Amino acid sequence: MKIEKTLQSKRHGVDFENLKFGERFSDHMASCEYRDDKWQTPEIIPFGNISVSPAMCCFHYGQMVFEGLKAFYAGDRINIFRPEKYHERHNRSCKRLCIPYMDQELFLSVIKALVTLDIDWVPRGSGTSLYIRPFVFATENFLGVKVSDTYRFMVITSPVGAYYKEGLNPVKLITSGAYTRAARGGLGEVKTPANYAASLFPAEEAKNKGYTQVLWLDGIEDKFIEEVGTMNICFVINDILITPSLDGTILPGITRDSVIFLAKEWGIKIEERPISIYEVIDASKKGTLQEVFGTGTAAVISPVGEIRHKDEIIMVNNGRIGELSQKFYDEITGIQYGKLKDKYGWTMSILL
Ligand SMILES: *Cc1c(COP(=O)(O)O)cnc(C)c1O
Repeated sequence: MKIEKTLQSKRHGVDFENLKFGERFSDHMASCEYRDDKWQTPEIIPFGNISVSPAMCCFHYGQMVFEGLKAFYAGDRINIFRPEKYHERHNRSCKRLCIPYMDQELFLSVIKALVTLDIDWVPRGSGTSLYIRPFVFATENFLGVKVSDTYRFMVITSPVGAYYKEGLNPVKLITSGAYTRAARGGLGEVKTPANYAASLFPAEEAKNKGYTQVLWLDGIEDKFIEEVGTMNICFVINDILITPSLDGTILPGITRDSVIFLAKEWGIKIEERPISIYEVIDASKKGTLQEVFGTGTAAVISPVGEIRHKDEIIMVNNGRIGELSQKFYDEITGIQYGKLKDKYGWTMSILL
């Protein structure tokens, strides 16, 4: 790996006490090119603009994939959470977008080298972390629609505070109404920018109505719950943890996976199955809807306090975080910040 260090760190200009999400970037970035049918030697260079042709095909047809994982300050070490899982998903996404496979050693070593070099950028305050954004894009310059022969994989990192302004306070969701996120066989289970492009307009409408995010319903029957804009979703009904099954339209979240794993460890009854919005409304009316929460790398666990579907408004747990939501949050963040023993081998550590 080639490493070119910056001559002037920008760290002193960053207010680490008031970090937002993804607005500041560490001193370096990683870059690795794919050409002649193979990934070339990766390099770490000062963070900065890159020069590309306006004819670069990913601008026009969106052949791109991204990931999002985090590194946490844990006293005597920095913990990167489940990087192997993110690598696995990265390659699944790449396959669907005809982007070449990257082996685990390359993916992990680039991330580890970058975080090690910018180790002072891992914030130390409670709830803070270094967000790691790997992404890959097609770099051939042409306007025909075809699979690119060349690619560039990059990693940038950003010190972040708590993801939601509300913190662990419950968010308000509104169902997708006239819009759909994905249909079976499409890109729903792939971490690719197109899914976010499609979600912006509905998300703006939701915000204008006073809601935090859109709760996506399925594209065929318009009643089965899929996920939230940037999170998977879980319900606790009658002491059973229910989350929509991965049927091809839902992003397979690593946090979702961690929650399911822990639920099984703890002997909580769990069902991965289709769940309709009407089942949730019904449970709410019967008083059996106990908790609703989103799961995602950015927020870990995000309690849902209110769901609106057409004219129905479901209030959840009096707008407070539920017991189980809190337990998942405490366990996952406990492992991430090294406060709890990493029983499951979920962290890749860099010793300080
Ligand atoms: C990344 C993402 C998630 C959450 O996945 P995590 O691996 O838990 O961060 C959920 N939904 C969508 C659409 C996503 O892009």
